[in-house]
Amino acid sequence: MSDSVERADVREKLGPRFAKPDPGDPVTAPHYEALREHRILIQKCADCGLKRWLPTPVCRRCWSMNSLWTEISRDGVVHSWTRIHQAFWPATRDEVPYQVAIVEMLEGVRLLGTIPMSFRDQLETGLEVRAQFLDMTDGLTLLYFTPSTDTERLALREKKD
Ligand SMILES: [Zn+2]
Repeated sequence: MSDSVERADVREKLGPRFAKPDPGDPVTAPHYEALREHRILIQKCADCGLKRWLPTPVCRRCWSMNSLWTEISRDGVVHSWTRIHQAFWPATRDEVPYQVAIVEMLEGVRLLGTIPMSFRDQLETGLEVRAQFLDMTDGLTLLYFTPSTDTERLALREKKD
């Protein structure tokens, strides 16, 4: 069996496990519950206040195991991005090509989300973006990002001043 056939076989077997996040995972459940209400919740250390994403049981700054969930804005800036042309997982076979960005939110945490291909000409590091919510048919809601409109950018700058 050639390497490529073997890898394709592994991808076929593992694919569905990586198709979507598991909203029932107790560590991330509050985040996915909030997404269904079109709000973004992230974890915050109850002792030192550090906001963090991905959620973890222990604060990396003060080692506290006490945490809360706090709502953040929908606004951020593209920190890094990539365009995917080959479907590594079978679940994304119909999605390629697609774009994924790491977005630094106003609050300092970095979230991962797609940016629709219709914005391919605008996508660059430093692009101001706003989170949008994609309601899937099975009750799962996912985040994606679109470039901020001029109105949103102005409102944001006024808020910052
Ligand atoms: Zn802490």
